[in-house]
Amino acid sequence: CGIFAYLNYQVPRTRKEIFETLVKGLQRLEYRGYDSAGVAVDGPKKTGNDHNQNTICLIKKTGKVKALDEELCKNDLLDLDEKLFTHFGIAHTRWATHGEPSEVNSHPHRSDKENEFVVIHNGIITNYKELKAYLINKGYEFESETDTEVIPKLIKYVYDNRENEDIGFSTLVERVIQQLEGAFALVFKSRHFPREAVCTRRGSPLLIGVRSEYELSTEDIPIQYNNALFKEGVQEKNSHNRADCSSDIDSVGDGRAVEYYFASDASAIIEHTNKVLYLEDDDMAVVSEGKLSIHRLKRKVNENPVRAIQTLQ
Ligand code: GLU
Repeated sequence: CGIFAYLNYQVPRTRKEIFETLVKGLQRLEYRGYDSAGVAVDGPKKTGNDHNQNTICLIKKTGKVKALDEELCKNDLLDLDEKLFTHFGIAHTRWATHGEPSEVNSHPHRSDKENEFVVIHNGIITNYKELKAYLINKGYEFESETDTEVIPKLIKYVYDNRENEDIGFSTLVERVIQQLEGAFALVFKSRHFPREAVCTRRGSPLLIGVRSEYELSTEDIPIQYNNALFKEGVQEKNSHNRADCSSDIDSVGDGRAVEYYFASDASAIIEHTNKVLYLEDDDMAVVSEGKLSIHRLKRKVNENPVRAIQTLQ
């Protein structure tokens, strides 16, 4: 079981290159064991009544990653030569724990037929039965036997019930993981938040590689504890406004070209960059407009709060 995701910001890549990066990432994780594999990428824009809508395309296959690779190459929906300057693609190899190995049970899992939210997961959600019963009762339809599927359904439920609140992607994810029990590394992608990435973990591993043309400082990732910003253990600002927080601190990726790699282990990242950041339990990483920030949802006693990019040897 392995997670791999890739976001290019202001770096032109063809779809073919993006697929190659995703497949290569999965192949590096194959040793962890798997029975099926899948990806989610942006599809062609759909013309609606008054505006173009983003779409997400899911491609899944049981068996080897090579079978998925062949499927990606022969798909006739997506133009492989199309250049995408900013794009977020997610990929997964599954080791079935709940539900047999099959296409419908493989990841990414989706919130609905329109693929509003899609998720890849490593681990086990132990309270999925209760969550599933709750959501079915609210009218949400399930298509797989997995524990994972409650996650995309739950985020859609929170989104659908946001009323007039202007909720960002990371807040939705934060509310979802508050309801989850068990172990997880999760990466979320959404049609409503194109080119934004949110990932988080508890009990299952997840790290982020950063590749950039410019010199990265090793200590410039901002951490937010419940919306208040801390750096090196000191609360710098008592602001509840995230936009305020990030305007006067350094964050990775200030509008310049940057690429991010999200993976279950370093072996899938090292060929792209040696600058990595390991997430801790209940950390949430968010990439928006090419900027990465870390939200620590639970403050632990006696922890070292400095989040630094490490250089892998
Ligand atoms: N429990 C999930 C499933 O069975 C995730 C398994 C995994 O970590 O690959 O689909």
